[in-house]
Amino acid sequence: MSDLPVVVVGAGPIGLAAAAELLERGIRPLVLERGPEAGASVSEWHHVRLFSPWSELIAPAAARLLERDPQWQRPDERRHPTGADWLTSYLRPLAAALGDRVRFGAEVVGVARRDRDRVVDAGRDSEPLVVHVRGTDGTEQRIEARALLDASGTWTAPNPLGGDGLPALGEASAAEHLTYRIPDLTDAATAAHYAGRHVAVAGSGHSALTALVALTELADDAPGTRISWLLRRGDVGGVFGGGDADQLPARGALGRRARQAARKGTVDVVTGFRTGEVRRAGDTTVTLTSTDGHRVDGVDRVVALTGFRPDHSWLSELRVELDSTLQAPPKLAPLIDPNVHSCGTVYPHGVRELAHPEPGVYLAGMKSYGRAPTFLALTGYEQVRSIAADLAGDHESAGRVELTLPETGVCGGSGAFDTDTTDGVDEGGGCCAPAGGPEPLTLTAPRRHDDVTA
Ligand SMILES: Cc1cc2nc3c(=O)[nH]c(=O)nc-3n(C[C@H](O)[C@H](O)[C@H](O)COP(=O)(O)OP(=O)(O)OC[C@H]3O[C@@H](n4cnc5c(N)ncnc54)[C@H](O)[C@@H]3O)c2cc1C
Repeated sequence: MSDLPVVVVGAGPIGLAAAAELLERGIRPLVLERGPEAGASVSEWHHVRLFSPWSELIAPAAARLLERDPQWQRPDERRHPTGADWLTSYLRPLAAALGDRVRFGAEVVGVARRDRDRVVDAGRDSEPLVVHVRGTDGTEQRIEARALLDASGTWTAPNPLGGDGLPALGEASAAEHLTYRIPDLTDAATAAHYAGRHVAVAGSGHSALTALVALTELADDAPGTRISWLLRRGDVGGVFGGGDADQLPARGALGRRARQAARKGTVDVVTGFRTGEVRRAGDTTVTLTSTDGHRVDGVDRVVALTGFRPDHSWLSELRVELDSTLQAPPKLAPLIDPNVHSCGTVYPHGVRELAHPEPGVYLAGMKSYGRAPTFLALTGYEQVRSIAADLAGDHESAGRVELTLPETGVCGGSGAFDTDTTDGVDEGGGCCAPAGGPEPLTLTAPRRHDDVTA
């Protein structure tokens, strides 16, 4: 099978880094990307500034490939690019350097072992994988591969607004009031869509904080703009992150700005709100009702930023093993479980943690984290370095995973969901504590909740 390519699904930051690693190891990569260009998902959040500096956003093997081109200029390592900068100064040049090893408009719709469905034991080590590809023009193709690296991300499968992970009642029929993306308020038409409106922002991650900051800035200029910030958890606690204790200063600063934004009169913070229903109220607004009957009325726009989930549907004929909680590889899941870790700390991991019962199949990048929210590009770059080394037979290098990720400086754990914690700090020693791990807090406390009416 050594003549066959290693198929990489997705020309995002991690898929392209994988291709560079494989190429350096003398292995033929073939990147299949369903979008029209590299970084198709990143381009959808082009207006968002990353909290990582350039020094943490360029994969080492990719840099070595790019440096062969005298035209490529390495960006200033200390600066924090926007998604658009990541595209223009890195992802597009990298795809160009990889040349015809990257195919666009090629969606992977299935992968199987040649002539075998998932049930057949025989030949799983000796037969190639067959990748089913659909072109944008509807054409179908089968490509044989020696291995598969799925770096297709989770961007295309945002979580719904419903507090239990399923769409709330009426969520689909109220679609024109909802977005699952961070609005680009630098765009005049989008800003006008939100200006002077009552906007409900749901979610507590970095995307929700980013939206909150941008919307409060809009509210400064557009009188009448109001924001209701809906949090499933019982208190605001550690939502704002570790501030100065965050080892990524820009991430800490985002939390500080969001805290200031939330203190402004334009933001109503509604804690313990698990959306059960979205009901149209008249022609232009909706009412959001939580599962325990509290209401937020007169909402014009809903920005649901409640995380993402992986799509494993097209891997159904492969023996892929997943953790039942996170839908991540079972050896990786305990290292990133947000019920225990909310601090962004991940113990070094590579091919050993990412392997599946199906030989030669790996999930990498954002998708490898399943539903865990703390993925950093640095993690993915190290994952694909380790996988490529293993595929090249360099097991020593594959096992030598050395990666220290910046901690957020705050630990929440599952306790923050239903409880009132002290400044969101996990008093059980912190989820960043090594070996043995902290005990999640399970205190109970009165919930702060006010109905919010327009
Ligand atoms: C708003 C935002 C800000 C972030 N900021 C940071 C930050 O500051 N620092 C940091 O380290 N990380 C950050 N991240 C997290 C992470 O680094 C990025 O999400 C990164 O883009 C993940 O890379 P990826 O290659 O795994 O997935 P993606 O970038 O999602 O790329 C996946 C690619 O696969 C393609 N694809 C999907 N399905 C298929 C298919 N079936 N067939 C073919 N192609 C397919 C998609 O079109 C896409 O191009 C941020 C994420 C978001 C959303």
